Amino acid sequence: MSLNDQLESMQTQARQAFDAAGDEAQLQAIRVQYLGKKGALTAIMKGMGSLTAEERPVVGALANQVKDALEDLCEQRLLELRQQALTQRLQREKIDVSLPGRRHRCGTKHPVTLVTEQLVEIFSSLGFAVAQGPEVEKDFYNFEALNIPKDHPARDMQDTFYITADEVLRTHTSPVQIRSMLAQRPPLRIIAPGTVYRRDSDLTHSPMFHQIEGFLVDEGITFADLKGVLTAFITAFFGDQVGVRFRPSFFPFTEPSAEVDVACVICRGSGCRVCKQSGWLEILGSGMIDPAVFAAVDYDASRYSGFAFGMGLERLAMLKYGVNDLRLFYENDIRFLRQFVC
Ligand SMILES: [Zn+2]
Repeated sequence: MSLNDQLESMQTQARQAFDAAGDEAQLQAIRVQYLGKKGALTAIMKGMGSLTAEERPVVGALANQVKDALEDLCEQRLLELRQQALTQRLQREKIDVSLPGRRHRCGTKHPVTLVTEQLVEIFSSLGFAVAQGPEVEKDFYNFEALNIPKDHPARDMQDTFYITADEVLRTHTSPVQIRSMLAQRPPLRIIAPGTVYRRDSDLTHSPMFHQIEGFLVDEGITFADLKGVLTAFITAFFGDQVGVRFRPSFFPFTEPSAEVDVACVICRGSGCRVCKQSGWLEILGSGMIDPAVFAAVDYDASRYSGFAFGMGLERLAMLKYGVNDLRLFYENDIRFLRQFVC
């Protein structure tokens, strides 16, 4: 067979082989087989030595033609294979845009947080600012300055966690009152929500719970101001229709003192298990700030007067949302918490 014929037949074979290649790797292997340094084309060209001087350039030109044609063909086939692979991949990874999306579940706020935020909003609208204090508190701020000296029987009212002889986990938010009064001069309108601790744990008590303290000090403040502010708060929180009553009480840091009841939110005053058939629920303690407290912070009690109040946030949340077990607030049961959508 002449070299020309060999070239022609090799070209035909290579063309068929390129067409049959199934992927890029196969195509590359076939290319090497025909056009590589040790490939079929090189093998044929080795026969050039036996040609005459006239034949040689003719065959050489043909060989170059065949080589260029096959390179082009290989390149073309490569693009085809890539296009095929892409098409297959797009079909395989088809996205159904009509499928509904996967929603992220949004978290909810804890009911105690919700109630705290509501109270802060209500009292802010009445001109109160928010203050905070440490949870590990000096005896002076937690007791002494609030007219509860050592050996005072009122210390028995609050089972205290002692850190040292002089430091406690605060048993109420009232020390913030002392800290604020020492830091500023009247007029003062402050609320202080926060965590408090008592050595008390049963069905209706938790050793850690939340309170909000509030107080107002200025010249000429009377019990009428106390009643006005607290009634405004209660109607804003529980609604216009709720009954409110003030009952005389005792606290070491206020004189006179009053506890405040609202008409039972469960039975609306007719009597039920929650209100122990009384029709009323106690929600807060309050009173006119005792002159002894003013003395501890060096305020002139003949010039200034004021009132203070404190309440349990869990209790407010229980009444507001109809929760009948305090422990639900601390168990972090997601089914319970998800009900409080803000
Ligand atoms: Zn009731």
